[in-house]
Amino acid sequence: MSAHLAEKIRSHGVETYPHECCGALLGRDSESESHDAVREVLALLPLVNRRDDSPRNRFSVTAEDVLEADRAAQQQGLEIIGWYHSHPDHPARPSQYDRDHAWPWYSYIIVSVQNGAPQDMTSWHLNDDRREFLQEGIEIRQRAAV
Ligand SMILES: [Zn+2]
Repeated sequence: MSAHLAEKIRSHGVETYPHECCGALLGRDSESESHDAVREVLALLPLVNRRDDSPRNRFSVTAEDVLEADRAAQQQGLEIIGWYHSHPDHPARPSQYDRDHAWPWYSYIIVSVQNGAPQDMTSWHLNDDRREFLQEGIEIRQRAAV
C-alpha cells in the first residue's frame, strides 16, 4: 500500500483515540514478478465503530458496513480485501475477540495507538483451519507505481 494510505489508517486511529477506529481495505489481489501472491490496498473506507458498549477494545463490522464497503469497492473497480482497526494503548496484535470475529480470506490490519500517538502497524489473516492468526508483511510504497 502507499505511504499515503498507511498514514490515513494511522490518523484515523489517532482521531478516534481512545476508542477503536475501523474501516475497510479496498484493493485487489495480484502477483509479484516472482509469482508470489500480492495483495494491494488501493483505497480505504473509514467506518463508524458501532460497538457502543465497549468502543475502547471492540469494533464490529455490520452487514450494512459490508454492503457499503462493497458498493464503494465496486465503484472504484476494486474489491474488499480486508479490514483495519486500531488498538488504543494495546500492542498491534490480534485479541481473542479479533480472532473469534474474523472471517477467512480477508486481511486484518491493526495499528497500535499509544497515548494518542500511532505506533506499530501489522497485518494478519486466519490460517486454513481458522484457529490462528498468521502475520503477513506490509510493504509501504513511498510513491505510487504507475
Ligand atoms: Zn482488535
